[in-house]
Amino acid sequence: MAKRQFKTESKKILDLMINSIYTHKEIFLRELISNASDAIDKLCYKSLTEEGISLDRSDFAITLELNKDARTLTIRDNGIGMSKEDLENNLGVIARSGSGAFEAAMDKSKDESLDIIGQFGVGFYSAFMVADKVTVLTKLYGSEEAFRWVSTGTDGYTITEAEKDSYGTEITLHLKADPEEEGGEYSDYLESWKLKSLIKKYSDYIRWPIKLDNETVNSQIPIWQRTRQEATDEDCIRYYKDKYHDDKDPLAVIRVNAEGAVSYRALLFIPASAPYNYYTVAYTPGPELYSSGVMIMEHCKELLPECFRFVVGVVDSPDLSLNISRELLQHDRQLKIIANNLEKRVKTELKKLLDNDREKYEQFYVAFGSDIRFGILRDYGLKKDLLADLLLFYSDKNDKNITLNEYAEAMPEGQKNLYYACGDTVDAAAALPQLEPIRDCGYDILLLGDSSGDMLMRMLDRWQDKPIKSANDDDLGLDGGERHEAAEKAQEESRKLLDWIKEHLDGKIEEAKISERLTSAPVCLTAKGPVSLEMEKYFSNVPGEAQNIHAQRVLELNAQHPVFAALKAAYGEDKEKAGRYVELLYSMAELLAGFMPQDAARLTELVSGLMA
Ligand code: ADP
Repeated sequence: MAKRQFKTESKKILDLMINSIYTHKEIFLRELISNASDAIDKLCYKSLTEEGISLDRSDFAITLELNKDARTLTIRDNGIGMSKEDLENNLGVIARSGSGAFEAAMDKSKDESLDIIGQFGVGFYSAFMVADKVTVLTKLYGSEEAFRWVSTGTDGYTITEAEKDSYGTEITLHLKADPEEEGGEYSDYLESWKLKSLIKKYSDYIRWPIKLDNETVNSQIPIWQRTRQEATDEDCIRYYKDKYHDDKDPLAVIRVNAEGAVSYRALLFIPASAPYNYYTVAYTPGPELYSSGVMIMEHCKELLPECFRFVVGVVDSPDLSLNISRELLQHDRQLKIIANNLEKRVKTELKKLLDNDREKYEQFYVAFGSDIRFGILRDYGLKKDLLADLLLFYSDKNDKNITLNEYAEAMPEGQKNLYYACGDTVDAAAALPQLEPIRDCGYDILLLGDSSGDMLMRMLDRWQDKPIKSANDDDLGLDGGERHEAAEKAQEESRKLLDWIKEHLDGKIEEAKISERLTSAPVCLTAKGPVSLEMEKYFSNVPGEAQNIHAQRVLELNAQHPVFAALKAAYGEDKEKAGRYVELLYSMAELLAGFMPQDAARLTELVSGLMA
């Protein structure tokens, strides 16, 4: 019988497992029990949704069997089983994640607190941490054929036809010999007391009975079906950490027990940090969906809006039809009601955190603030009312994060608008010369450090009844009558120069004008028309057509600045020199606005020319 080779990726992971120095080897049991439970879930679901299958739910069980003489531990389930192809595809290949990433994580987790094995969906292979030979005897439900898969590790595996009376899977671990110097280690897994304590520790909430020595060891009642007395928040947190392989406590535990138009229970968590794959396509959002204890879907993304995709947990409702398909689910009335309620609950919970535990909320915002911000932009602002008061901004005045509400409440009398400024970073935003007149009025400014910030603020448009204005806006709505008059006068007097500047910059700008907003800086760059400078920056990073979206640039000059006087003088005496000044000023304005000057060599030449 020819040995088949593991796929390269799988081989590497197997190798890592076999030689693992991981101290949490005991989790192999949790992984194998969880696979067995999934297999029963699948069969149970099938029997409920397909015609002509009648199975008695009370027969489903996971059974553990020990043989001390043979040093074997067998985990048996009467779940769906596997075909020959399933064996080949599921146990010969690591489907989900690269071995490189796994290896790196394994290396990093020397402190053993990280549960990498669960995270990487390589559960089955963990058997090789404790066994030097693994046999899988399996028969797919409804099939006549059974198969035996055997492997002693990296040298490959065999699959042969076999005899098995009933459907389901039986996994036999031939435990490794105990290390001489330490003793005990692997033989412990042949002791009932040890196995019972591991089942209690890791698998108590598994819905199917886990039997050992003819006794059901686990309590079976899923944690979300328990009252607060039966399962405390601490119990829920432990469940979360095990289930989602997170070594940090969640920031919030949300428990819902609703009765009414739709009855359901939910147990949801807000994690403290993003899971390792959160920003990849591998992350599937949405809580698990159960109907009366039977899992319908592993991730039901219809249950929560996209902006709350960080929420994990489970929703269980006896009112949902088991037969429901993904397509139908989107239109299911009951599901919509649940989703609406959950959206409100998550929002309330976040608001509570914001109001009562600012430190935790800031931690949340570091991890998932981008979901809130993009949530406002998505679907043309559909969720902006839900999310606006969850936003945090860096306050120019207070040097800390504040909410829109806190900004509005601290507004001095007479301030009519909320002001914001965007830059590549918060510091770059704070350094914009256009903030000067706003600061001079004693007004605070919300500083945004990313290029989508401007679109976010434009989407918000107002906070309660007050307009939100960019520091770049033409009309800042400040009381600056004198400023305005002085600028208008200077504008009139410099008309010819300003036209010449525009001409000289040859299409780079839409207009050159005397600024009303500058006090100490000589120049700044703003935009007119619908596209702001920040939008241009944002779109320049989006592949495709959008890269051609450009702002109409306006070069604003400070008529009070000595540099302007120098420019004016040069314009009268030496046009060539004036031309160089204009180029320099324009480059400076670009730099201040966070744009790289297009011709850095030319800029170097101009600056050098000034010095020597
Ligand atoms: P994961 O469970 O995270 O997908 P595993 O390596 O633990 O990864 O298992 C790989 C696959 O093998 C499972 O997804 C499942 O399809 C199959 N499998 C494992 N154990 C069983 C079992 N007891 N019964 C049926 N299928 C199983």
